[in-house]
Amino acid sequence: MTQAQLIDGKAIALQLRKKIGEETDALIKQHGIKPGLAVVLVGEDPASSVYVRNKGIATKKAGMESFTHQLPSDTSQQDLLRLVEQLNQDARVHGILVQLPLPKQIDADKVLCAIDPDKDVDGFHPINAGRLMTGQPGPVPCTPKGCIVLAKSVRADLTGLEAVVVGRSNIVGKPVAQLLLNENCTVTIAHSRTKDLASVVRRADLVVAAVGLPQFIRGDWIKPGACIIDVGINRLELEDGKTRLVGDVAFDEARLVAGSITPVPGGVGPMTIAMLLSNTLDAAKRPIT
Ligand code: NDP
Repeated sequence: MTQAQLIDGKAIALQLRKKIGEETDALIKQHGIKPGLAVVLVGEDPASSVYVRNKGIATKKAGMESFTHQLPSDTSQQDLLRLVEQLNQDARVHGILVQLPLPKQIDADKVLCAIDPDKDVDGFHPINAGRLMTGQPGPVPCTPKGCIVLAKSVRADLTGLEAVVVGRSNIVGKPVAQLLLNENCTVTIAHSRTKDLASVVRRADLVVAAVGLPQFIRGDWIKPGACIIDVGINRLELEDGKTRLVGDVAFDEARLVAGSITPVPGGVGPMTIAMLLSNTLDAAKRPIT
């Protein structure tokens, strides 16, 4: 039986990071601009700490300046907003990322809105959501941007494809749908209230799954030959007490039907950091472009 082509996000991200490193080097040599990324972590959430550490390592590896700000979990909103303002004013900082989730006493929306939109390398600021919606240049959320790069790695022109995005969050579902629309796909956004989701997914040439439910999208929901981009990262408890990372798509079933598919791990995940570096580089280049 034929199996779907594996979309190797790890390899694609590595290649991109190499290119970003070369462009960073050229920017430093030709214009004396060293891209700088500031990452702010409030509290000690273990997963967030790992993400922040990895982002710092990747930033330095690309030849960029990395500024990590670790604040205690009882930091007040006012103090965090003060730090964001300092980073907005700091000419060495081209990109600012405040790691989510934030502790309860802090209103995440207020903090994200306080970031200078041109330094908002996560692309979550409402001004950048508006720019994306209206086709103006600006930072695009990293994971959605990575999804498009992966889809285009198997099919350079997505024009005319039926695309179904499952999930409508502000950080993944909605921006990825907008990007697919910009690529001239016919886009459907499905969510928890969608009726007969299986038949909606079945008409898609391109499926982006961003649900957060392990192996939720089954093989028999998939149109033969479709491209499957699985954003989900779920920890599945195994009988032997161990855990395994799985996506939102039942990979073993889907790979027998799909034309191409991203694995979890090793698909969308590695692209997110690559896109963060890409957004930081773009922000640093802005004065000369
Ligand atoms: P959210 O929880 O914010 O959104 C989940 C979406 O799935 C919602 O729109 C929800 O619908 C929809 N949904 C939930 N249940 C169903 C259902 N039964 N049928 C159809 N739709 C449903 O998640 P995120 O968008 O933040 O993340 C999605 C997944 O992607 C997670 O597994 C997350 O870990 C992963 N992720 C991976 C990243 C990466 O770097 N690879 C980065 C970011 C996220 P409704 O709106 O109606 O509630």
